[in-house]
Amino acid sequence: MVDKKPIYITTTLPYVNADPHVGFAMEIIRADALARYYRLAGHEVYFNTGTDEHGAKIYEAATNEGVDPEVYTDKLAERFRALAPALGLAANIPGITFNFIRTTDKDHVAAAEEFWKKCEAKGDIYKKLYSVKYCVGCELEKTDSELENGRCPIHPNRELEFREEENYFFRFSNYTEKLKKFYDDHPDFVIPDFRFNEMRAFVGRGLEDFSISRLKTKMPWGVPVPGDPDQVMYVWFDALVNYVSAIGWPKDMAKFTKWWPVIQYCGKDNNRQQSAMWQAMLMSADLPNSEHIVINGFINSAGGQKMSKSLGNVLNPFDVIDAFKDVTPFPDDVLRFVLLHDIPSFEDGDLTMESIKASYAAHLQNGLGNLTSRIMKMATSYAVVYTDYPGDATVETQKSAVVSGACEQFDLHKAIGEIWSNGIGMLDAFIQREEPFKKIKTDPVRAKENVAYLLNNLLSIAQALKPFLPRTAEEIGRLIRENKMPEKPLFARLP
Ligand SMILES: [Zn+2]
Repeated sequence: MVDKKPIYITTTLPYVNADPHVGFAMEIIRADALARYYRLAGHEVYFNTGTDEHGAKIYEAATNEGVDPEVYTDKLAERFRALAPALGLAANIPGITFNFIRTTDKDHVAAAEEFWKKCEAKGDIYKKLYSVKYCVGCELEKTDSELENGRCPIHPNRELEFREEENYFFRFSNYTEKLKKFYDDHPDFVIPDFRFNEMRAFVGRGLEDFSISRLKTKMPWGVPVPGDPDQVMYVWFDALVNYVSAIGWPKDMAKFTKWWPVIQYCGKDNNRQQSAMWQAMLMSADLPNSEHIVINGFINSAGGQKMSKSLGNVLNPFDVIDAFKDVTPFPDDVLRFVLLHDIPSFEDGDLTMESIKASYAAHLQNGLGNLTSRIMKMATSYAVVYTDYPGDATVETQKSAVVSGACEQFDLHKAIGEIWSNGIGMLDAFIQREEPFKKIKTDPVRAKENVAYLLNNLLSIAQALKPFLPRTAEEIGRLIRENKMPEKPLFARLP
């Protein structure tokens, strides 16, 4: 156990200018499931998330509300902090350090300044007149090749800004060859492959320097540029540094060395920032690169339609939890289930309240919930006790090699799918074939053996489910241990 290497997993930091959306809920739940998986496999885990609080978009939103950005971000950061209890995140598990970083934290700001100085000392930061098309929605410059009909494809309703000012630039162009070599030396750096290929192509075209500061007179809400009171750091530059500041860099190098490098989760719109820009910044600061960048697809509405406020099809993660709170004690696990099971690990997926309800009925109510009730009913009425329960199972290694193999390839969709198709499906078929509920009258010894077999396998399923549906898994384990029927159905029928 002490020999297993510490694992550091992070999400991206969402902007606090809007409520948490279902795409970020998926990202953080996947990161959480992976953190739990590694913890159960005996690793110490550091799990980082938090909020990105600087930049024009936040400054604009605070100004619109007529409040100081500090007051505005304090309020909104709390809504993101509330995700941990609401989504059942591993915030209080021994062996998992759950860290919530805000980019307005003092230590983070100091780290961003130190990081800047390192890149500057390397000769990678210079000042020049800057004239560019900028999407405030993305907080990113846009080159013509990235635009669709002259607009940002992610924010087609926002006007691009044309900006001309003197800013600091990062010599990204210095890192074209270094990144190519790094990618070649780390063939599984970006996951999945098709996203890695996008980055190889992007770097292969040759990299252009990017702006990393803003004039303070135009946008004061940022980390000050060291040695230049007229400029603040560009929000991406400051925010990316959180992945190292969250583990103590540069103040606590022992802590940093213990946890680095990192496994980073992000959405497909963040590939370039995480897999290329951030990696070049690390090289510039003489820090080792990240370990893996895992790229999620987007969640769309029915038929692949983009979720948008104007279409009224935006799915709020808290609404999903709300919709199930009267039919199950574990509504957070319902949200976790659909985000892990119903959406592919790397491609885009569709999700609507209707699809969630259908999936709930098929897989939780008629699947896992019903199977647990049937097995526990037989176990309690025939007095078959599971005697070989391994006690505290928190560090039990997962039994299924397929499940753990899929987890280690970040394919959590495949891992949980395997539990349903080959775990739950197999036990359903076993009950149908062996009919222990009939056999109990003719051959009670054999019937009880069947039930013991079912209990044993249900426990394996509960073990394997721990990273994905932690509270449900815990409850099934308890029912088996105490030889009890669920007091009420784990997943009752929706009204
Ligand atoms: Zn945009």
